Amino acid sequence: MKKNDEIEILIEDMGEDGLGIGHLPLSEGGTFTVFVKDAVLGDRVRAVVTKVKKHYAYAKMLALLAPGAYRVEPVCPVAARCGGCSMMQLDYTEQLRLKERRVSSCLSRIGKIETPEKYALPIVGMEHPYRFRNKMQFPVGVGKNGEVQMGFYAGRTHSIIDQKTCAIGHPVNTYVTDALRELFSAWRCRYEDIIYDETLHKGLIRHVLTRVGFETGELMVCLVINGRKLPDGCDEELTKALDKALDDYHRDLSEGRIEEGPGVGEIRLTSLSCNINREKTNRILGDTTVTVSGNDRIAEVLGGNRFFISPQSFFQVNPVQTEKLYAKAVAFAGLTKEETVWDMYCGIGTITLALSRSAKCVYGVEIVPQAIEDARENAAANGVTNVEFFTGKAEEVIPELYAKDPEKYRADVVVVDPPRKGCDPALLDPLLSMSPERIVYVSCDPATLARDIAYLSDGGYELKAYQPFDQFCHSSHVECVSLLQRMSNTRSKEKDMRSRQDYIEVYFVE
Ligand code: SAH
Repeated sequence: MKKNDEIEILIEDMGEDGLGIGHLPLSEGGTFTVFVKDAVLGDRVRAVVTKVKKHYAYAKMLALLAPGAYRVEPVCPVAARCGGCSMMQLDYTEQLRLKERRVSSCLSRIGKIETPEKYALPIVGMEHPYRFRNKMQFPVGVGKNGEVQMGFYAGRTHSIIDQKTCAIGHPVNTYVTDALRELFSAWRCRYEDIIYDETLHKGLIRHVLTRVGFETGELMVCLVINGRKLPDGCDEELTKALDKALDDYHRDLSEGRIEEGPGVGEIRLTSLSCNINREKTNRILGDTTVTVSGNDRIAEVLGGNRFFISPQSFFQVNPVQTEKLYAKAVAFAGLTKEETVWDMYCGIGTITLALSRSAKCVYGVEIVPQAIEDARENAAANGVTNVEFFTGKAEEVIPELYAKDPEKYRADVVVVDPPRKGCDPALLDPLLSMSPERIVYVSCDPATLARDIAYLSDGGYELKAYQPFDQFCHSSHVECVSLLQRMSNTRSKEKDMRSRQDYIEVYFVE
């Protein structure tokens, strides 16, 4: 096989990034894997080969010879090009099945777990998998004809699709981006280099970040700029444009032109800020944020707790699903008010506070200082006093504290919720020596989850149950919460006597 060859292929699976996966028979026996862009599960397609590697190749669909049984017309007109929703052409129920299979296949291939399905709780999907996102990040640029563009990156590139609406975002975003596109166009006539040019690393406005508190109606708008501030007078114009956007939103809302949905209701501009990012980087946010007007953060209510969220802090993007995800994590933790718990990778303390009500005390650790500031205020605002937060890398902070005072910092239960790259071995080793009864692993990447489970299994832990959650409908990402139990210690002997099956039954009952 070589580049530009045309092939006919049946799509049998879909990968990480929403690419269709098929297999072609080799003359010497066996098969060769091909990743096909634009093709979905079940399709038979003609495709052109774009890149050949030793064990696999990439291709692009040329013609759909026979559509798969699960192919659907996507709700969004730019779904095929946009880098956001890579699976919108696939029926939602089938997306869920695919995600379940991805998790179990990682657990068996990488995690070396025999028949992982035995421990699986059914994936928690959304009843209405649209308009669920509370956070959007719009790249800003200039098009071929000098027009200001604001929208979404096309898949695997940084070319901007100038798009007004997004089927998975809160509807207020359309009003915000319409107003800002118009304002930025006006600014462009006045100020040279007002819009950032990524290739030249020149110009000011790079991205616009928005966040909506679905329960509180608070809106955050943050302009990411390659500079220290906007030109004089622009702050007022910005506020005015956003006020007008919200007036338009509320008018349409009261006239019934906006469909009901999560978080749809009255919205107030609570926090307007500029984040300074002067680096030549793919990272969206820089380290410093300057408040232009209002508060430096917005509030959101989740699981009965009130949270303040800064632009730099991580906060789950799908609040409807997050409530269910955290409830499962807390249930898996199995707390009785007696336990010392570590919440590693705690962000603004969302899981920490959810655990605090049923634990003796909870420690949280997180790398972003702003998030820890939020976490401390969140604990205080909710009257939670049995928590303590530490800033730093979990893999550095935990071994240090544990060495200093093992009695105090030993945990009965540990919750980890790392970013996609998973846990650092420098964290897993001290975690094992701490030997908690249970480890609850919240993961957004089943491959690194499986790798870490394999490591923890070698250290004496056993997977008892796991449940995938669809936090990112129409993308190929899948979240998963798993429960691991310590097996090799006399203190848990009584529990060890119970068979695996008992445990599974316990956690299956809802
Ligand atoms: N549990 C939180 C946050 C999970 S996201 C929630 O559900 O909201 C993962 C978090 O890990 C992010 O806040 C990120 O800033 C943080 N993080 C990334 N690397 C880290 C490290 N090495 N040590 C501690 N925290 C880290």
